[in-house]
Amino acid sequence: MLADYHVHSGFSDDSSYPLRQVALDAERLNLDEVCFTEHVDYGVKPEWNQPDTARFEDGRPVTNCPYIPYLDELGRVRDELEGRVTVRAGLELGVQTTTIRENHALACCLGDRLDFVICSVHQVGDLEFWNGAFQEGRTQEEIHRAYYEELLGVVECFRDYSVLGHLDLIRRYDPFARETGPYPFGRVRDLVAEILRRVIEDGKGIEVNTSGIRYGLGDFQPAREVLELYRDLGGTVVTVGSDSHRPEHLGSYLRRAYRELEGLGFAGVWTFSRGAGTLVRF
Ligand SMILES: [Zn+2]
Ligand SMILES: [Zn+2]
Repeated sequence: MLADYHVHSGFSDDSSYPLRQVALDAERLNLDEVCFTEHVDYGVKPEWNQPDTARFEDGRPVTNCPYIPYLDELGRVRDELEGRVTVRAGLELGVQTTTIRENHALACCLGDRLDFVICSVHQVGDLEFWNGAFQEGRTQEEIHRAYYEELLGVVECFRDYSVLGHLDLIRRYDPFARETGPYPFGRVRDLVAEILRRVIEDGKGIEVNTSGIRYGLGDFQPAREVLELYRDLGGTVVTVGSDSHRPEHLGSYLRRAYRELEGLGFAGVWTFSRGAGTLVRF
């Protein structure tokens, strides 16, 4: 069984890969399931039907996923490819402690039109990691602590998700790592354990995001030590996704992630339908 549970299409602001083509390519790659997880980042992007306040990139407004056109198109593609590849509807919510209300309202509004929701932290205080605004003026320790404290604040109040996305994302955006090496996991271990305990208590899961290999981090996100900690705390719910935005990313390193999870003692990976998870054993 191969299921890519983190896939972006042209319905995300940072991809131009047509959704139908992604699904056709997933079939060609012999994936059994593809779950679309389009971007929503309240606080830094306006809604798709209010693009007048958006900044423009490459001639198009940067907005949240256009939910309704997205779900309508996905429904058509799902019907067309039925019996060939399973197509699931998801979102990747970039949640901040300051935007929990909007994210909750969206999840309620879309209800069971969504199969799966990834909760990620992509920005803190509306300052983005990808452009360095969040890191500006902070030490390495401050960057890492602020990231995990934000994530903890989010999981303490937010329940409308299936799994946490790329839990140690900040490793990818640590400007100090090149000179001083990666920030030692031991210094944030307690914070990460507190986050994971809450995830387990709430019946949620985490994802293994394979893009860390593409980005040269030498490991998945989260890294093996986080997966071990999650397992030791009793965590069992894990999805695997490529975080694909382009054809060459789709389905990448899924098998490698399954092997690592199996080696760590996880029973299988999970798939989701209308928010309900199913374990698919290795
Ligand atoms: Zn993400
Ligand atoms: Zn993503």
